[in-house]
Amino acid sequence: MKTKPYGPTITSPPPHSISPYYDVVRDGVITEIVIKRSDRDPRYWPGEAMRTQVVGADRFVDFYDEPEEKNVKHWKKMLGFYLAKFVLQPLGYDIDINNCYIRSFPQGYKLFCHKKGHKDAPRRDSYLCGWKKDFRSPAEFARHLKWLMLGAKRNPATLKTTCDCCYCDDRMTRQQIAELEWGRKFSRRLKKGKVKGGESECISEKEGGPSKY
Ligand SMILES: [Zn+2]
Repeated sequence: MKTKPYGPTITSPPPHSISPYYDVVRDGVITEIVIKRSDRDPRYWPGEAMRTQVVGADRFVDFYDEPEEKNVKHWKKMLGFYLAKFVLQPLGYDIDINNCYIRSFPQGYKLFCHKKGHKDAPRRDSYLCGWKKDFRSPAEFARHLKWLMLGAKRNPATLKTTCDCCYCDDRMTRQQIAELEWGRKFSRRLKKGKVKGGESECISEKEGGPSKY
């Protein structure tokens, strides 16, 4: 079968890795991972009142705003890097892990920017909402996303999730996971609590994750 010379193409997966739960789409040097599985629950989004900016008499705000586009891109790139490195490459995909993105968050998940403090310079923290816990960084969400990508499997005997993210499985803390999978400098930032969100969560290329942004 001939391949189209232009435009996005679904990459030919290694024969053993065709999945109903995701697609891998290549467009030039960029690879996109399309996640088809979700465990969303929109009840866990911030309510309308919490998403409305109200400036108090003290000029302070405390609300969940739309995220900045660059922050959405950062999350998609970090998560794409992780899934490329820990799922696709082991399956035999020949891809550039530094140019890999997820196309979108799983259906029903949404990134918010929590702004709290003086209205002109509030603290900004990212929260990915749509599940019973809010994920506060790409590194915190990565293992849960990997579990979704691989079909959201449950133990057939106990029906318990087989996800090994820091919320589903208490055998490893998020610091330990970060150190194991994202590098030591990144995990040190986690320990200092600087990874919570917004600009502060962005990871430079020297600290693990993709080498380019
Ligand atoms: Zn999980």
